[in-house]
Amino acid sequence: MRILEDTKALLRDLVAFPTISEDSNRALIDHLADRLAMAGARVEVLPDATGAKANLFATLGPAGDGGIVLSGHSDVVPVAGQDWTVDPFALTERDGRLYGRGTCDMKGFIAAAVAMAPVFAGRRLTRPLHFAFTHDEEVGCFGACALAAALTAKGLRPSVAIIGEPTSMRIIEGHKGCYEYSTHFTGLAGHASAPDRGVNAVEYAARYVARLLDLGEALKARAPAASPFEPPWTTVSTGVLTGGNARNVIAAEARVDWEMRPVQPGDADFVKEALRRYCDETLLPAMRRVAPEAAIVTEVVGEVEGLVPASDNEARRIVSELTGANGAGTVPFGTEAGIFQSLGMSVVVCGPGSIEQAHKPDEYLAVDQLRDCLAMLERLADRIGG
Ligand SMILES: [Zn+2]
Repeated sequence: MRILEDTKALLRDLVAFPTISEDSNRALIDHLADRLAMAGARVEVLPDATGAKANLFATLGPAGDGGIVLSGHSDVVPVAGQDWTVDPFALTERDGRLYGRGTCDMKGFIAAAVAMAPVFAGRRLTRPLHFAFTHDEEVGCFGACALAAALTAKGLRPSVAIIGEPTSMRIIEGHKGCYEYSTHFTGLAGHASAPDRGVNAVEYAARYVARLLDLGEALKARAPAASPFEPPWTTVSTGVLTGGNARNVIAAEARVDWEMRPVQPGDADFVKEALRRYCDETLLPAMRRVAPEAAIVTEVVGEVEGLVPASDNEARRIVSELTGANGAGTVPFGTEAGIFQSLGMSVVVCGPGSIEQAHKPDEYLAVDQLRDCLAMLERLADRIGG
């Protein structure tokens, strides 16, 4: 099977670019751009503001709306502190497995899609086929957000996206969002013997956390009746509560690191609005009665939208036909899928390899998984190739 050998060779190239999120992905993107251009694709490299990172967007077939997007992120998680038995940035094939950082998450899918480009290019495609490869997924989906803005600015509306994150080639139609925040409290220090003359940031932070707990309960009642998620509602969790210096000093500073995982977009607004009102109407007036400079500032660490299961989903229909899978599931991890969905596209996550191997030492992709992925893409070429 020549295409499998081509895919492995390209995966070997891709793994050799150490595209850890904090480092540049430009060399890898340029390599993919060359390969796609050679196949006859119309390729755009879209750098970020620093120029160190870039997204790639390429098209085969007709121009215009209604296309199918094959999407993947180019960055990988670090290997520092992990115990690898092979070189993480040199592909090693052993016992039907391809070892290397990013093999399953998710350079294997990218290699398969790009290796198939000449096959797609050889057909008379009846609709546009796009390749969308992004930067900085692992640290907050920044590349996909920029790509979404670029597509909107162009006025281009593809209709289907297949996100090739490792799902063992199962069709995934939903996952929760992941919204992360740090809320900083600034009070007024003083002697613990006179609490009323200071503003205790730790105590206000504690009240904020208590409000988060109440909202967590309220969210249970808002769960959609047929929610496919476990648990079925939007969750809120406080991971870090820190502040103060000594028992006998009124704490001037405190910080709460918290997150929520929305099952539906409206829940995030519900929580944010409730917290804004609680701060503006209750906490801040009390703090500022003693110290006008007191403040509560929430820093958005990342807001990655969920993928909301849709009853009418063209992406699910197409990928079911291609893979023969009936039914679709949900996963507990986040992807870029929700960002594409927010553009009005129908989206599924389906890609080779298991999330069990992602982010771990000796990450690998089973060759069989790569073969199944190529079979899906070959059927896609049959389906949209005239
Ligand atoms: Zn991934």
